[in-house]
Amino acid sequence: MKLIHETGWAEPPSTAEQHLTGDIDCEVVVIGGGGGGMSAALRLAEKGVDVVLLEGQTLGWGASSRNAGYITNSIAADPEMLGLMLKPERLRNLYQFAENAVHFATDAIGHHGIDCGYQQEGIVMAAVSKGQLRHARRNAKVMADAGSSAKFVEGREAGLPEGFLGGVREGVGGTLNPGEFTLGLRAATIASGVRVYEHTPALDLTDTCGEVRVKTPSGRVRARKALLTTNAYSADLSSAPRNLATPVWTSLVETEPVAPERLDDIGWTSRAPMVTLHMILESYRVTPRGTIVFGTRRLQTGRNPLPHRTPAPNVADDLVRGFRERFPGLRDIKPQKAWGGWIGMSSTWLPVVGEASDNVLYSLACNGHGFAQAQYVGHLLADRISGAPLHEDLAAIWHGRKGFSPSLVGGAVLHAAWLADRASDRLAALTK
Ligand SMILES: Cc1cc2nc3c(=O)[nH]c(=O)nc-3n(C[C@H](O)[C@H](O)[C@H](O)COP(=O)(O)OP(=O)(O)OC[C@H]3O[C@@H](n4cnc5c(N)ncnc54)[C@H](O)[C@@H]3O)c2cc1C
Repeated sequence: MKLIHETGWAEPPSTAEQHLTGDIDCEVVVIGGGGGGMSAALRLAEKGVDVVLLEGQTLGWGASSRNAGYITNSIAADPEMLGLMLKPERLRNLYQFAENAVHFATDAIGHHGIDCGYQQEGIVMAAVSKGQLRHARRNAKVMADAGSSAKFVEGREAGLPEGFLGGVREGVGGTLNPGEFTLGLRAATIASGVRVYEHTPALDLTDTCGEVRVKTPSGRVRARKALLTTNAYSADLSSAPRNLATPVWTSLVETEPVAPERLDDIGWTSRAPMVTLHMILESYRVTPRGTIVFGTRRLQTGRNPLPHRTPAPNVADDLVRGFRERFPGLRDIKPQKAWGGWIGMSSTWLPVVGEASDNVLYSLACNGHGFAQAQYVGHLLADRISGAPLHEDLAAIWHGRKGFSPSLVGGAVLHAAWLADRASDRLAALTK
């Protein structure tokens, strides 16, 4: 299995946009060109705002092009847990935000004419044990009560593979190739009139006397306002709120192509993309190129400045072991390559946006479920920064100027969660 540094979904752009040299002025500077930053810049350009987008690598280089490609209306935290912790109205607002984010991201595919293999198919939060199945029923109830279109399904009825007993099927969204999607969004952003500077990391950001100044290696940007859409890399900038994001490395593996009849033989007739209900989820999906992409299980934290890295061999091996346990009928299928990316986890595990200072807004809509949410938030933040009232979906995740407590997500906690998941797997095997 080849461990790679870039995304496994698509080749990187063949040429990069210019990097910034010298000093420039604009109305709004967007820092970080993932799905969130591109979406914000596109919206600002559409509104006639003079916008500059700074990206440390090439647009889409971060999590946005590396993820598993699920357009999901889930929120990172467990629904049952959220139901216990949050007031019903807040939960309802969160699920409405997440569902609208799905519609926004799927509309963007059509709007920009992006060819990225989008398939509208119900993602299933699937149970691999009787305990998880009971949990799925409770989750489905919490989500339905909160107005989500997700509902409980039995494994057979949903065409899930043997060993997957049933789960919660999301009513909207599906899967795509995120590498192809971000290349398409990048092309749309460049064509839109946004002034894009690639290979231009923001090194410092100050907001004084009603003016924002951004320092880059060979130039400066002076702007009226700034948007921070730097995801896991936010702590690189001293002006980002302290403890905003804990960087967590997440890995994916892709197999060789699998003959369709092999999938039918194991009962995966619907080809529904799945995530399990472990504390740290496992994801399994079939791609349009006939391979299976699976991931997560073992997460690792990192410190800024974050390294460009590949998955750790033991993490990739653990993912392959998990794949073989879940799909005994596909044990001979060979893994081909593995890659990963950094996600920013907020201390509450919920998406969050707010104000870093008078003229700087930030977004951290990620937590491993942010592919659609980051884009939607970018769009809404662009409206907000150009003077619109707070949209109700933005209000659902608005943090204002408040600070953040240090996150409880650390290497030891994530390892303990992985151990607990493996213990629950063993227990499930004994009680089958
Ligand atoms: C392996 C993996 C699997 C995932 N699976 C899913 C999934 O299936 N579904 C889902 O919804 N979510 C998933 N996610 C999460 C999702 O990809 C992210 O939440 C989302 O893409 C975040 O978008 P973003 O624009 O906020 O951040 P990013 O895409 O990370 O973009 C941030 C950008 O900012 C740039 N940057 C950072 N610092 C600076 C700076 N100082 N100056 C200039 N540029 C800077 C970076 O280079 C990067 O391009 C997954 C993530 C990973 C890593």
